[in-house]
Amino acid sequence: MHATPGDISSEESIERFIESLPHSIKGTYGGNTTCLEVRTDDNEIIIIDCGTGIKNLSAELMKGDFGKGKGVGTILLTHTHWDHIQGVPFFSPFYIKGNRFNIYSPFDDIKERVEYQQVFSHFPINLNYMLATKEFFILEKESEFYLNNVKIINKRMHHPGGCFGFRIEENGKSFVFTSDCEFNIDEIDNIELYKDFFSNANVVVFDTQYTFEEAIDKIDWGHSSATIAIDIALRFNVRKLILFHHEPDYSDEKLEIVLSNAKTYMSMNSRKRGVLEIDIAREGMEIEL
Ligand SMILES: [Zn+2]
Ligand SMILES: [Zn+2]
Repeated sequence: MHATPGDISSEESIERFIESLPHSIKGTYGGNTTCLEVRTDDNEIIIIDCGTGIKNLSAELMKGDFGKGKGVGTILLTHTHWDHIQGVPFFSPFYIKGNRFNIYSPFDDIKERVEYQQVFSHFPINLNYMLATKEFFILEKESEFYLNNVKIINKRMHHPGGCFGFRIEENGKSFVFTSDCEFNIDEIDNIELYKDFFSNANVVVFDTQYTFEEAIDKIDWGHSSATIAIDIALRFNVRKLILFHHEPDYSDEKLEIVLSNAKTYMSMNSRKRGVLEIDIAREGMEIEL
């Protein structure tokens, strides 16, 4: 419907045309829940959260060492709300003997929480019957630790039941993941407490589930909006902001409005125009730092 005869005159023009379309037409933002794959400079894998998105990752990993029982991976868990752990029972590398996963979280009872999801009344296969070695490590809250030369910092976020953001640093580059997090008036009053966590990050993936109006309406629901994310990103010299944890009721078209409103809000800040790049998360998105 959108194409002109020139757009479809050759393979190249078709590809160019498709590339020019908004994401809501050429594809989809996707409906899976939270799961991110981080690769270090040595190609070691760090998985952040195990939502349903881990099923796609699972298929990719099974093609390599994890399919042969020779994979080693790190998992960071922000919290155990269902949308962040519900992919665990369907994560094929967990079923393969020989694979090894070190699972880190600041929650003292993280092992019990993940096991509880797979008690017999909820799922036929207990976590212990998944034969990969899965070792749980409890992180000291608001501390840092190292995986070789990768530094991982956790920071407590305001969210019902608690949640932790992670900052991952390697060779002078930094990636911050923080979802689910509500930056309400109290949090903004104390925003300097977050300075070290956000400062000069190359990329920040931030919870922007609600519009500004919804965020006011839904105080204590545990999520933020793009305007708050932009304010924080500008304050702490973040270079790229990714809007994340989309409201499940939103269509792809609505998500494009969220992004365009965010860019408008950003451009109203004339002093810092062009300093911060903004994009919106979609399934399969890859970012190189
Ligand atoms: Zn949550
Ligand atoms: Zn969530």
